[in-house]
Amino acid sequence: MKPLQADKRPHVGVIGAGVSGLRCADILLSHGFKVTILEARSRIGGRPFANSDFGSGPNWIHTWNSGEIHPIWRLAQETDTPVHHWNEKQLIYDSAGVPLADDQADRLSSLLWDIINDAFKMAAAAKERDDGTSIPAEASLYDFVRGRVREEAIDDNEKELLMQMSEMWGAYVGEPVWKQSLRFAWMEECCGGEEMFVESSYSAILDKIYEPSKERAEILLNKEVVSVRMAEQRLPGQKVALATSDGDRYRFDDVVVTIPLGWLQKHLDCFEPPLPARTGAAITNLKLSQLEKVFITFSSAFWITDTNRDIFPGYTNWLAPSYAQDTNPDKWPQEVWNMASFTAPNKHPTLLFYLYGDCSRYIVNSIHGKDRKEKYEFLRAFFSAYYSRLPGFDVEKEACRPTAILATEWLKDDLCGNGSYCNFQVGIEDADKDVLALRDGCPERRLWFCGEHAAPFEECGTVAGAYLSGESVAKKIIELYGDGFVRDD
Ligand SMILES: Cc1cc2nc3c(=O)[nH]c(=O)nc-3n(C[C@H](O)[C@H](O)[C@H](O)COP(=O)(O)OP(=O)(O)OC[C@H]3O[C@@H](n4cnc5c(N)ncnc54)[C@H](O)[C@@H]3O)c2cc1C
Repeated sequence: MKPLQADKRPHVGVIGAGVSGLRCADILLSHGFKVTILEARSRIGGRPFANSDFGSGPNWIHTWNSGEIHPIWRLAQETDTPVHHWNEKQLIYDSAGVPLADDQADRLSSLLWDIINDAFKMAAAAKERDDGTSIPAEASLYDFVRGRVREEAIDDNEKELLMQMSEMWGAYVGEPVWKQSLRFAWMEECCGGEEMFVESSYSAILDKIYEPSKERAEILLNKEVVSVRMAEQRLPGQKVALATSDGDRYRFDDVVVTIPLGWLQKHLDCFEPPLPARTGAAITNLKLSQLEKVFITFSSAFWITDTNRDIFPGYTNWLAPSYAQDTNPDKWPQEVWNMASFTAPNKHPTLLFYLYGDCSRYIVNSIHGKDRKEKYEFLRAFFSAYYSRLPGFDVEKEACRPTAILATEWLKDDLCGNGSYCNFQVGIEDADKDVLALRDGCPERRLWFCGEHAAPFEECGTVAGAYLSGESVAKKIIELYGDGFVRDD
């Protein structure tokens, strides 16, 4: 094929160097496009970036049962990224702080997942039947679980336990189960295949996704885009004009916006002229959740008696705690994953707490801006009510005092939109169409959107979703410019 002259190559500006932006750039570059990436931070990577042993963003890889290759699992394998398969054991404390018997915890947990899977199926069937409109927009997954629990042949105590256990959904989507839209529950069914947990960080995976851009794209760091000006009709030779907060200006043939949803919601006025009504509404309708992580490290894993066998439960959940009135009067449940079960050198005497919703907001607002010691004291006082109930705890023992506590503060991260990822909350009428509107973008204005909030339905909010959304937008742009342009792969 005859190569086009370099200056004739369409020039695409990609805003944001997270997974979606880097994947989009990769595909465009491999089809001969000229690509400039404008990233607001001083580094690439977006949410999966990690500068310590612990990633503050993603860890889970939820693979598919469709037989298709999951792109992030493939990259994890290619980069020898260590992944962990949690043992099936769980330790559940009731609201008085007493552990449930193992068989009761397992039985109730299986029952709960059966009910949640029925909710997915029911919502998917309603989607097929009447576009989901037979499910009121205000109905929540919690309502569904409550309805089903009432019918179960179990005693009232177990019914209450089940309802409390259903709150674990919050740590999946970042907001409480009563905020989860039932109508769009099917859009959260991203699992199905094997579930893995990256033991270290996404660094090697990110490096791999970044490789093509590093070699062939222009990467501009510390460039926060604050204005996007475009024409309303796609006419030959027209450009999209971007301005960055430092006053620099850029012009591109097409622009791909991978900026997180929360940032877009706060800065919708950066688009001139305003976005088409459907695109703007999609950005406003979708919601951002508040997942945060707290890593509590000890000098040794006091809760484990046999370090050679993975027999301590991977997952521990303290349901509606009534014994921490002074620090947690709202009885926010707490859950932890046992990082001491990993394989060396990633094995850490560390408990990873996941927080969501109001509990996240309370914790982050309480520690933000405080010095290291104040943060430590606050977090130790809050979380000791829970880890002190684990087996082997002895307040007199040095090994039972945390040596370090690390907490994420996504709530305060403007460039992540002050949240974790999108979710579908009660009240939303057309979540799938909102996501579709973003995926369609505004080709007539030379403007495209991708990112976890514009991903394949069941992958919204995930790294895989961000990756696939970047790929999909790049393919649309390539299609628009035509095949004749393809030359270097
Ligand atoms: C606490 C937490 C836990 C998570 N857990 C998991 C998990 O276990 N598994 C999973 O699959 N996913 C998980 N996720 C979600 C996953 O991290 C995201 O879905 C994915 O990384 C999003 O990629 P992205 O490219 O859409 O956005 P980002 O990674 O946010 O990339 C967007 C980029 O745009 C830049 N930017 C922002 N504003 C501007 C601007 N105005 N101008 C220029 N650049 C800008 C940002 O700095 C960023 O680099 C988690 C996320 C969080 C926060």
